[in-house]
Amino acid sequence: MEEDLVHNYVLEKDIIKGLPDKVVIWEETLRDGEQTPGVFFTVDEKLKIAKMLDDMGVGIMDVGIPVVSKEEFKAVKAVANEGLKATIVGAARTVKSDIDACVDADVDETSIFIACSDLHLKYKLQMTREKVLEIAVESCEYARDHGLDVSFVTEDTVRADLDFVAELYNACTEAGAKRAVLCDTVGVMTPSAMRWWLGEIKERFKPVQLSFHGHNDLGMAVANSLAAVECGVEIPHTTVNGIGERSGNTSFEELVMGLEVLYDYRTGIDISKLYELSTMVEEISGIPLSINKPIVGYNAFSHESGIHADGVLKKTLTYEPMDCADIGRTRKFIFGKHTGHAPVADKLEKAGISATPEQVTKIVEGIKERAEHTEKKEQVEFIKMFREMEEHRRGISDKEFWAIAKDAGVNPPK
Ligand code: MN
Repeated sequence: MEEDLVHNYVLEKDIIKGLPDKVVIWEETLRDGEQTPGVFFTVDEKLKIAKMLDDMGVGIMDVGIPVVSKEEFKAVKAVANEGLKATIVGAARTVKSDIDACVDADVDETSIFIACSDLHLKYKLQMTREKVLEIAVESCEYARDHGLDVSFVTEDTVRADLDFVAELYNACTEAGAKRAVLCDTVGVMTPSAMRWWLGEIKERFKPVQLSFHGHNDLGMAVANSLAAVECGVEIPHTTVNGIGERSGNTSFEELVMGLEVLYDYRTGIDISKLYELSTMVEEISGIPLSINKPIVGYNAFSHESGIHADGVLKKTLTYEPMDCADIGRTRKFIFGKHTGHAPVADKLEKAGISATPEQVTKIVEGIKERAEHTEKKEQVEFIKMFREMEEHRRGISDKEFWAIAKDAGVNPPK
């Protein structure tokens, strides 16, 4: 049994002892994911993604900010009325018209957000802490009184004054918010910082369900979210493929597989559809998966080097920490400069072709020779084309901008 041959210290050393009994994924693809520069979803696309997430067992999804536009309102309302099992959330600023739009869109819950760090208060909101507290409480009460469940969200929570954070959340909890969503808005936490910080939070907070919204600016989002879960946070936020503002959010597939594989924790998510979901969101968002993206990237289960391919052919666990078939993927062997005998022999065998060891050696040599002399022209052109598209395809073009400005009576620069 391989279990006897490999250690998993996450399990063996009881690192998971603080894990909550139930982790519920709060999906943000349709809200923060749509805030990825240049990305927008139509009503039908939002419905399609929401249905798939619901089918896969996602418990909560924030599907948009109804006040943003008429289309957005339509999309949120359509998802809310689709009869999904998940709790459907609409986001709102601490503004009555935002909350009214959530009520009219028939969502189950509203996530009311306001910034709370002194930095955001001074430069962005130009508000005092007292004012923030006052409008936050008013908004929570207003939403509650209009029949909505309330999650209270603060932007930039992890860079704010701890005592103020506690005062603000405790006041909002008393005003009816049933969940506290804590945000690492610019992705500056680390797992050990999370552990310390959540300890401080728990000492100061009145009992409330905790949720964490992580960003990936320094590549820490998944690790920080797992640290939060280890500390008992029940509701981590995710987006499919990790899309979102700037470098994006905690990636859904990475967090789910982190819990399933490393923590041996059943998330209740149907992981067999992970790859299908990922490629669907890739197409609808227009944000291509990076080649080396964990779980769903093109290379996540590809091997070229001789030693690795040989190991994987003998026992996949040697160089693959999970079974790609579990998430609806297949393993690939790439033939190139680092190819060895094993995958060549394997390919011939699977095709029902017999060859002598000498012939296999000759094929390996031929592959290396061909690979090392491949022209890079095509590759360079592809990268150039991709950059060009990135520059001009997303969002509206410069020309379109000035055409719109002209319609508004503003003349373009000479
Ligand atoms: Mn965010």
